[in-house]
Amino acid sequence: AQFGSLSDRLTETFRNLRSKGRLTPSDVDGTVREIRRALLDADVALEVVKSFTASVRERALSDEVNKALNPAQQVVQIVNEELVGILGGQQRRLEFAKRPPTVIMLAGLQGAGKTTLAGKLGKWLKKDGHTPMLVAADLQRPNAVQQLQVVGEQAGVHVFAPEPGNGVGDPVKVAKNAIKAAVDQQYDTVIVDTAGRLGVDAELMKQAANIRKAVDPDEVLFVIDAMIGQDAVTTARAFQEGVDFTGVVLSKLDGDARGGAALSVASITGRPIMFASTGEGLDDFEPFHPDRMASRILDLGDILSLIEQAQSAFDEDEARAVAEKIATDNFTLNDFLQQMQQLRKAGSIKGMLGMLPGAKGMREALDNFDEREIVRTEAIIQSMTPQERELPKLLNGSRRLRIARGAGSTVTEVNALVNRFEQAAKMMKTVARGGVPQMPGMGPI
Ligand code: GDP
Repeated sequence: AQFGSLSDRLTETFRNLRSKGRLTPSDVDGTVREIRRALLDADVALEVVKSFTASVRERALSDEVNKALNPAQQVVQIVNEELVGILGGQQRRLEFAKRPPTVIMLAGLQGAGKTTLAGKLGKWLKKDGHTPMLVAADLQRPNAVQQLQVVGEQAGVHVFAPEPGNGVGDPVKVAKNAIKAAVDQQYDTVIVDTAGRLGVDAELMKQAANIRKAVDPDEVLFVIDAMIGQDAVTTARAFQEGVDFTGVVLSKLDGDARGGAALSVASITGRPIMFASTGEGLDDFEPFHPDRMASRILDLGDILSLIEQAQSAFDEDEARAVAEKIATDNFTLNDFLQQMQQLRKAGSIKGMLGMLPGAKGMREALDNFDEREIVRTEAIIQSMTPQERELPKLLNGSRRLRIARGAGSTVTEVNALVNRFEQAAKMMKTVARGGVPQMPGMGPI
């Protein structure tokens, strides 16, 4: 899980706090000490930890907390706000040029995930109605150009690569030619993949700075591997000095890394984290929302991302039809089945469950969650008559028994499924009306 152990440590700290009605200064100090240790153990940079804990402490000792009805909750709120702050505060979107093409340059060490990101961004932009083009200006690694071509093909996005004899070996020239080609061929965004080295070096910086000068990008995204630990901070500083950048992309957030160093980058460079990369697949990628990430780390739930993911699994007409059905109470087991199948198509149900508030407590259940569960659910619904699927109220005892037999299942399982369906329908109705759903088993924070 993203920032799993940091998250576990912080939620544990808050759990201890929750049993207290009033907070003494020594309670606050104890809590701040725990937070400090958790952040340091997660590799968050020392200077970030220091200022973070200082402001949490100051605010937690203030009157606003002492007079509150629930001081513990208040402290969680403060930590949440401060965390959103170090993650960059507001979400920042890509800036598009007034006159296309918009030029987005990628920079970062070798292996950071730039080439993969080029494909992800390209695919994402294309889905959003843009006409992106990828540029292979990484001429350092022998097969980098070919790798970008493969990625481009997977993403269904055009790749501009140096022609033999024309600019081979000169990334600045390639980048310039690419911009010209984009203007001629009316691509509206150009994503320039640049070379990286294993470590920061002067030559690399000079090349990146030269490319930057030549293409005058609207955005320079610094891609940083969340797994590289404390080096993230040094590397980010070096790139800021050598090339400078307008935004940060955290990659490999799916790893088991402690990830804290990456969390420090926004705060230390003053540049916002704009995207998060969470896997090798081209769809494992999302715009970064500081508030949602903070909620996820503090296990406050991330309902918005959940809903967005669910929505992106449907096409728009279908989504509207489902919303309509939910709003008018016409959501049936058929729709439920269809949704489930679509969610599975969209991938990672487990990941989605992980975004529910209080999911930590369900960790075991999550780890034991398996695909076969869905297969069993499908079997049960498919054993129902079309009428029963439309009108679950029809499902009396003898019908349930028949269905259980047909699906090779038990009445208990059929009952459980119907209950889950009813809960889901209720929850979706609340969401459709713009409310925040009460998750079953979710206690107060
Ligand atoms: P570049 O040298 O910066 O262009 O890095 P690449 O895009 O070639 O990525 C290096 C390796 O990391 C490749 O094997 C990618 O598949 C992998 N990779 C990139 N992004 C992610 C990510 O978000 N998660 C994981 N697990 N692997 C990634």
